[in-house]
Amino acid sequence: MIHITPIPAFDDNYIWLLRAPGTDRVAVVDPGDEEPVLEVLAQEGLTLAAILITHHHGDHIGGVADLAAAYPGVEVLGPVDPRIRGLTRQLREGDRVDLPGLTEPFQVLEVPGHTSTHIAYLGGPGGATLFCGDTLFAGGCGRVFDGTFAQLSASLRRIAALPPQTHIYCAHEYTLANLGFGLWVEPDSQALTERLRQAQASRAAGLPTVPSDLALELATNPFLRTGEPGVIAAASGFAGRPLNGHAEVFTALRQWKDSRYD
Ligand code: ZN
Ligand code: FE
Repeated sequence: MIHITPIPAFDDNYIWLLRAPGTDRVAVVDPGDEEPVLEVLAQEGLTLAAILITHHHGDHIGGVADLAAAYPGVEVLGPVDPRIRGLTRQLREGDRVDLPGLTEPFQVLEVPGHTSTHIAYLGGPGGATLFCGDTLFAGGCGRVFDGTFAQLSASLRRIAALPPQTHIYCAHEYTLANLGFGLWVEPDSQALTERLRQAQASRAAGLPTVPSDLALELATNPFLRTGEPGVIAAASGFAGRPLNGHAEVFTALRQWKDSRYD
């Protein structure tokens, strides 16, 4: 069974390190900064064999060029996007990613919205690992940059339909703030209150709050709860008119958080 561990970067990014037993070859996801990655590789005597990229933002690709220079022959995989340089393979919906000896295969999901070309990787250990970049966060979701609200809503619906035991590996430690907004939307939620308490304890102990699993997100993440009557009512209250359907409710929630909470 492979191990997946976070390499903290910048203030609140996680670069995920995939490490299989019996080999010193490893893969990383979204290395926005080369320095913490090079440090871990050197400390542990590891060789970088593959880089997986979810989207073009600098805090996810900033370390790619220097890592590729330090490890010639590294595979660099990511979405079709001219803003991402140095890919050895461009990935599209349904593509299979095989990293023999490093991990079980992944399948590529196109999940636009945060950006127009954002992808996620589903598979890995137990077939139930999702690297979702800045699409879904623990307790929240990414902002809409050059994608659209409708795209991000549809991408989140897609993730919501995955098996509930799917482990969600997102790229940022935004959980406490996200859960605070969740309580604006669903102030009476016991599940949210309990999750916030646990997340506060983890952070106080210096531990990450991620990965989470989809079942927990479905119970506590307002952006995955756009069909719940209480969430629809709260979003409609913000919008000042009755809202219909996941995309409308999602858009109001995202605009509410962007304009009043963040
Ligand atoms: Zn981003
Ligand atoms: Fe990011």
